Amino acid sequence: MKYWRLEAPATLELHTDEPTQLTQQNNVKVKIEQILFSTSDYDTYIHGSSTGKPIVPGKNAVGVVSEVLDKERSMLKKMDRVAIEPFVPCGKCDECRNKNFRQCEQMQELGLTADGLLQNFVDLPSSTLHKLPDVLSNEKALYISYVALGLNITDALTFDRGEHVAVFANTKAGIILCQLLSYYKAVPIFITQNSALLKTASETGIFYAFDGNNLIDRVRTVTGGRMCKQIVFFSNSNFDIEQAYSIASFNAEVCIAGYGEKDTSLSIKKIAQKHLKVFGVFNGYGNFPSAINLLVTNTVNVDCFIGEKMQFDNLKQQLETVTGEDLAVKGKIIVVD
Ligand SMILES: [Zn+2]
Repeated sequence: MKYWRLEAPATLELHTDEPTQLTQQNNVKVKIEQILFSTSDYDTYIHGSSTGKPIVPGKNAVGVVSEVLDKERSMLKKMDRVAIEPFVPCGKCDECRNKNFRQCEQMQELGLTADGLLQNFVDLPSSTLHKLPDVLSNEKALYISYVALGLNITDALTFDRGEHVAVFANTKAGIILCQLLSYYKAVPIFITQNSALLKTASETGIFYAFDGNNLIDRVRTVTGGRMCKQIVFFSNSNFDIEQAYSIASFNAEVCIAGYGEKDTSLSIKKIAQKHLKVFGVFNGYGNFPSAINLLVTNTVNVDCFIGEKMQFDNLKQQLETVTGEDLAVKGKIIVVD
């Protein structure tokens, strides 16, 4: 098996190891076909892993089952196309021992806290694999976790039909969320500092898309003075959280979303005075099947986010010309031969 490991910031090395044996825990071997390389992967690449140790990057990948430990009882069989959910329960904590994997106390996230998917073969628990319908292309399936994150956010917000929901984001994750909000009959207001994303927003039918200037006046006009009762603030955007508060109505919900490592200070005075409810949604765990369905039915359209391909074997050289700005709109796809 071959894998790229990030030894230090911006230093990838290709390693080759002997093939591994399947175990009771990692009971399915997957041949990886495509891996998404997008904004958060680029951040990891440039800054190193959040643990500070070497890590195999790669959070979103699709592949083909190449071996199954228990052929009689497994729901998967050789040659099945699968998407990989990058969250792996530890299998050891009390919750895992009681088979409440969703509540695992030490949930590992591939490519973030555990070695990720930038490999040609990987052994994984069958619970992390989702069989893909034939009509869903590999390229679109790489965006399942984005839709799943959006679903966990919409599940966490309490909005009514026709309510305005503001989304602060500087990457495509914000547009995917806006598409979901429209589907659930809310009215998204997309706020971004990325001009290319503003254009993409209008192309994908998001009517209210602003760049952050004169924001209070614009939101006041759109909402008839009511401002926003729900606000989603992607933690990797460069906005000041004060801007989110400034367009919040009394009793608003503010959801801080996504993997971003960026930190900021919160004005507790404003949270108290406006009776804001602030909470976080970190990932898309648990919503992969619904996300696959929304992509198959084209309820969420990710065509405009599919970027150029790079070859696994020459990755190091190809990454030298990639910028974070490019990836905000179109994610690159690493193809494994
Ligand atoms: Zn556990």
